[in-house]
Amino acid sequence: MEKQQGATSDRMQDIISLCKRRGFIFPNSEIYGGLNAVFDYGPLGVELKNNVKRAWWDAMTRMRDDVVGLDGGILMARRIWQASGHEEVFTDPMVDCTNCKKRFRADHVIEDYGSLDVCPNCGMKGTLTEPRQFNLMFKTYMGPVEEDAALIYLRPETAQSIYVNFQNVQTSMRKRLPFGIAQIGKAFRNEISPGNFTYRTREFEQMEMQYFIPPEEEEKWFDYWRGQRWQWYLDLGMNEAHMQWHPHDAKELAHYARAAVDVYYEFPFGFKEIEGIHDRTNWDLRRHTEYSGKDLSYFDDIEKRRYIPYIIETSVGADRSTLAFLCDAYHEEVVEDEKRVVLRLNKRLAPIKVAVMPLSRKTELAGLAHSVHDQVRPLGLTQYDDTGGSIGRRYRRQDEIGTPFCVTVDFDSLNDNQVTIRDRDTMEQRRVPIAELRSILAADLA
Ligand code: ATP
Repeated sequence: MEKQQGATSDRMQDIISLCKRRGFIFPNSEIYGGLNAVFDYGPLGVELKNNVKRAWWDAMTRMRDDVVGLDGGILMARRIWQASGHEEVFTDPMVDCTNCKKRFRADHVIEDYGSLDVCPNCGMKGTLTEPRQFNLMFKTYMGPVEEDAALIYLRPETAQSIYVNFQNVQTSMRKRLPFGIAQIGKAFRNEISPGNFTYRTREFEQMEMQYFIPPEEEEKWFDYWRGQRWQWYLDLGMNEAHMQWHPHDAKELAHYARAAVDVYYEFPFGFKEIEGIHDRTNWDLRRHTEYSGKDLSYFDDIEKRRYIPYIIETSVGADRSTLAFLCDAYHEEVVEDEKRVVLRLNKRLAPIKVAVMPLSRKTELAGLAHSVHDQVRPLGLTQYDDTGGSIGRRYRRQDEIGTPFCVTVDFDSLNDNQVTIRDRDTMEQRRVPIAELRSILAADLA
């Protein structure tokens, strides 16, 4: 059972508290008591998540010739969700405890406790109801009248707008198979038992890529994308010892999939899915052909044959992977008898790349320190930190938010035109000429 917020491990509590305290992630609607399972990203959180999304977008589109981007609407024709099967089967089995009134996902209770005999919350026997199927899609109405004909859904995944735009993209971009379409965007699921901070929320972002292929190349591309996606995490510094493959058995496979494998990450609350790679066969384009009446087959003009493309999907949550990178980066250590908390984030992911600090707030340092700051601005998001506290305290605050480099301007700088660079991971300090500062840091950040 995924533990609910409030019952997560101490380490998770430390990470949640750092996120709040240092402006990464806040509870949504907090001054009104909070809205369950929705979170807001603060100034540093939005930078971190944007960096994760940019790293994905770069790897999946900019660095390749065979994948192009899309940004589809959250609202789509209801018929799409009938064709995709979501209206009928995008459900989870739900049970309620008649004693403590808590609600659970029946499959999670069975997975963790072997049966539905005992309530995982209050421990009472025989108080869980029979499982009922609950559809996870959020409903809303298009137009002023709330009637069935106007019912539409907030999309529960981004993938469907890629399928229904397959022909628009293929013809406008003159793409030959195999090729892919990538999209980053919001998705909504009315989860029965959300929890574990941003791991399972009701509003979240997905980064999905659908790769369109000839039918006989299913296995080849499924294996290829598994390799690519695993490597992406390693390239961003994730510790491989915290990663695991989880192949789906027949029971777990979604209605559209022939094969599926998840990437699991070891969160403080256990190994959990962060990404799914699915062999979806030609289910999607076949169903949309059937329901829309539009022929979505593809004509291969070299081989002179027509077929409905097969699809390999890679689907990762932007929020879940951001949380995984945060957990992976979080370290506590003792330095000179004091606890040091440091986020060892990969430099590409770190929200702030360089912090510039005048040693003291005395005005004679401010002019030089501001001009040093202006020099490093082009390196990415930087910060001018003349907040109170000793330089050591300020280093520790930057460690806590994962800033790779601090640059200190002191009184000697006024005479020797040199500054001190302090490294987050080694805590080593080196003196460098101001004239060379930007190129030195650019090389270190690359
Ligand atoms: P789960 O089994 O955890 O409910 P799923 O298998 O239904 O996930 P997919 O439909 O394959 O998930 O979605 C792809 C990815 O989207 C997931 O790997 C996850 O990273 C992300 N995701 C799905 N549901 C949520 C959610 N409620 N909150 C945050 N991220 C989510």
